[in-house]
Amino acid sequence: MDIRIQDLTMRFDNITAVNHLSTTIKDGELVSLLGPSGCGKSTTLMLLSGLYKPTSGRIYFGNQNVTELDAEKRQVGMVFQNYALYPHLSVLKNIMFPLKMKKMNKIEAREQATEMAELLHIGHLLNRKPGQLSGGQQQRVAIARALVKKPNVLLLDEPLSNLDARLRLEMREEIRRIQQEVGITAVFVTHDQEEALSISDRVMIMNNGVLQQDSEPQQMYKK
Ligand code: ADP
Ligand code: ADP
Repeated sequence: MDIRIQDLTMRFDNITAVNHLSTTIKDGELVSLLGPSGCGKSTTLMLLSGLYKPTSGRIYFGNQNVTELDAEKRQVGMVFQNYALYPHLSVLKNIMFPLKMKKMNKIEAREQATEMAELLHIGHLLNRKPGQLSGGQQQRVAIARALVKKPNVLLLDEPLSNLDARLRLEMREEIRRIQQEVGITAVFVTHDQEEALSISDRVMIMNNGVLQQDSEPQQMYKK
């Protein structure tokens, strides 16, 4: 589903975290939001998720104006840097959790969660607890849980920054593979330029809340 952002602004007291941002993200595209700490990346992601409501401006998912919709109603999948898994639940139950919230029947939920786990190559880890997994495996569980509801949009906030260098490379390729296999529109926040250039169809550079550059990786340095 495509995402249209129109003149989006978010102010906190006297800080303008996002300043008149406009862009369109095409269906199935993976876009990186790149920029230094404090430039407004996370705030933009929170606005897309519905966890924040903007001071002004609009967000559309397809033809639907979602600006005033709460997070649950927008159907977004989110992945965070710290995985945010439920430590007392097994991998299977972590992945099933969003389906349980939707009151899907148990057999169907188990089937869909298992299928998603296999897509993420964690089908052999379903009975483990998060504490018994490596960082890379935990991030795979978090991605499976984010995708199991078949959301409209996948939002990733620095998902690789807690991994060591080798896993960071591996999971970068895995996220790209899965995003393309599922065919989901994705927004990927990072402060790592190389990561942004290698993973995305398009890189949006933010500076002080302003969208400074918006181009394909191969066009980035031609200006
Ligand atoms: P980034 O993700 O690029 O590091 P953020 O979106 O987190 O940037 O922050 C952008 C600016 O907004 C920063 O100046 C930050 O201090 C401020 N900010 C973010 N969230 C809040 C908040 N909840 N309350 C007040 N200021 C905030
Ligand atoms: P670790 O953190 O232990 O290195 P990874 O995050 O690299 O684990 O991978 C998670 C699990 O998925 C591992 O058990 C790994 O063997 C398995 N795995 C990774 N890539 C593939 C693949 N392409 N096909 C099948 N299994 C894979």
